[in-house]
Amino acid sequence: MDAAFCTAWLEEAAGAVAEGRERLTALDSAIGDGDHGANLDRGFSEVRQALAAGGAGQPLTVAGVTLIRKVGGASGPLYGSALRAMGKALAEEFTVADFAAAFQAGVDEVARLGKAEEGDKTMLDALGPAARALALAVGEGAGAREAFERAARAAREGAAATVPMVARKGRASYLGERSAGHEDPGAASSAMILDALAAVGAR
Ligand code: ADP
Ligand code: MG
Ligand code: MG
Repeated sequence: MDAAFCTAWLEEAAGAVAEGRERLTALDSAIGDGDHGANLDRGFSEVRQALAAGGAGQPLTVAGVTLIRKVGGASGPLYGSALRAMGKALAEEFTVADFAAAFQAGVDEVARLGKAEEGDKTMLDALGPAARALALAVGEGAGAREAFERAARAAREGAAATVPMVARKGRASYLGERSAGHEDPGAASSAMILDALAAVGAR
């Protein structure tokens, strides 16, 4: 795999976020300030433009820097730093095992920056299980297609598992116990971005 795969993933993710925008808005309206769909849709539109401009650099790094610069909400710096860390961890050509290691580096960056851990009802509750599923699949000798599908499934399950959780990080934490009963918007968008990875891996 190479940079072209990363570009394809980012474009697919941009499409998924655009398609999921209203759902993310609704989730963030329930336990946040209602801007997660708009934040990510605008951010990924900027990513598309930055990639189309054809600048130098690993596409994931370009995307990460763009999200950090252009998205004001919590999710911009978090996703941006994760993608930037992934891009930095990947050589020009890489295997699915390298990709899994880079993905874990990105997830670690979210935890470090957000001072969050799994169970806090954040994007980490989708990203952490996805990273583990990816590593497990690679360890079992799965190819990219199967590994990405398993990661996407883990992310969807992880996002669904945030519903009963009480938020301990981000705006939703201001609601305390009232944050329970709703899926975390960032976990939902993470599942969309992992679904995009599986879609590109299946091509
Ligand atoms: P904001 O909350 O600033 O309006 P968004 O609505 O775009 O930003 O993103 C909200 C999402 O960001 C949450 O649903 C959660 O998944 C994630 N998030 C917020 N704070 C943190 C944190 N400290 N660590 C990890 N993820 C976080
Ligand atoms: Mg918000
Ligand atoms: Mg906001």
